[in-house]
Amino acid sequence: MINKIKELEKLSRLLDPKESIREQWNAEVLEYSNTFINNLDTSKAFIQSKENGKAIYNLDIEEQAVELTSLLDSTTKNIDGVGINPASGGHMGYIPGGGLYPSALGDYMAAISNRYAGVFYAAPGAVRLENMIIKWMCRLMGYPTTAFGNLTSGGSIANLMALVTAREAYNLKARDFEKSVIYLTKQAHHSILKAIRISGLSEAQLRYIPLDNNLKLSAEHLETAIIEDKEKGLIPFYINASFGTTNTGTIDPLEAIAEIAKKHKLWFHVDGAYGGFFKLVKKLDSKFKGITEADSITLDPHKTLFLPYGTGAVLIKDKENLLKAYHCLADYMQDTVGKEDEISPADISAEQTKHFRGMRMWLPLKLFGLKPFRAALEEKLNLTTYFYDEIQKLPGFEVGPEPELSVAIFRYVPKDGDANVFNRELIEAIQTDGRIFLSSTNINNVFWIRIAIVQFRTHLEQIDLLLDIIKKYIDDTSTELN
Ligand SMILES: *Cc1c(COP(=O)(O)O)cnc(C)c1O
Repeated sequence: MINKIKELEKLSRLLDPKESIREQWNAEVLEYSNTFINNLDTSKAFIQSKENGKAIYNLDIEEQAVELTSLLDSTTKNIDGVGINPASGGHMGYIPGGGLYPSALGDYMAAISNRYAGVFYAAPGAVRLENMIIKWMCRLMGYPTTAFGNLTSGGSIANLMALVTAREAYNLKARDFEKSVIYLTKQAHHSILKAIRISGLSEAQLRYIPLDNNLKLSAEHLETAIIEDKEKGLIPFYINASFGTTNTGTIDPLEAIAEIAKKHKLWFHVDGAYGGFFKLVKKLDSKFKGITEADSITLDPHKTLFLPYGTGAVLIKDKENLLKAYHCLADYMQDTVGKEDEISPADISAEQTKHFRGMRMWLPLKLFGLKPFRAALEEKLNLTTYFYDEIQKLPGFEVGPEPELSVAIFRYVPKDGDANVFNRELIEAIQTDGRIFLSSTNINNVFWIRIAIVQFRTHLEQIDLLLDIIKKYIDDTSTELN
């Protein structure tokens, strides 16, 4: 027995490498990350290839150990070298992600110490840190001290958490679902629809409220719909408003919606996954009027706070509602009860054991301070206005509504031929070039090209490059035609 244990120990100790090995691995990973970051200036924002990373299958899980060098080489080639590069300043498609360097260090530290950040009793310091960040976000949004929230893995889960919190706050049971009404617009993010299904509310009635000419929810139509639904004996329950739609960055009329929600006693949710952190830009303050009336807000630090993917946030105005929705007791957790100065994340979310994701958010916020974040967001707003103005100076281009935040849509209207086809070809050309990545969207059957300026590495240089690429394409196609 003892011999067997010792034999096993010898092998199992391989899982705890000694310092010299750790240093060698760290050096290799550091070289990989330096090369990656240093090459960002010249590497593409989007790479299509036939292989598309297939060779990663050569490194399937097997008995024998493999050298780190070959793993890093394969990562560079098969993972980093294909698809969209979210770390690139040229990424302006969808809603770009971030990747602040100190967040990588924060993840590293969190993984090394592996603090049990779900439960105060187990990791009081870690829970305090995360709660401090949550309270900062609540203050930023203008919420009262009764508010609280949770760091999630992303905006979709935050939207799901808000809906479940509302469902429980309203005491809705299965028998009520088909009478419950959820109000949203066609511009709402599709994660709202996912949340409805996952939360068991598929049978609830969805009311798509008409949009005004600027693609904003029409508050007037909202109130009419609620009144009609009440008359039918239904339960108007939840309003989803967008602070920055994914399509066009549009902000729904929060103040008017808040008033209606209050009057008719509906839960008012604001999806600020893309737009919420623009609160850091003081000149945008007035756009946020009414947000403090929301019962819940979704934010997404891995978008407009430039964190790497894996961090969203939900804020709930009355923390009792969070506890009501998620708090659960278990015999084997009895040691933790009554020993809490702070609410444990495990008591207000679906998670128990969880990533200590506060460290990846706290470290950059503290190391940089808020100033550069405010500046970067304001810079992105101005870059969007700059692009919006410049593209209109090019003959043949037309634009969508004036950008409220950092998303704009535009298209070329050719003298002859189908505009949708032309713009599809234009975006394909931009994507094939790959130095800049843009995506497209469809609004009322019109094909629009979208620009979303959110990556912290996007500066004037990338916008001018994009304008050059577009100009060249138009010049080349018109010479072809002549
Ligand atoms: C991105 C986004 C979401 C979803 O967030 P994820 O972090 O991708 O899960 C929800 N709503 C809006 C408005 C978004 O832009």
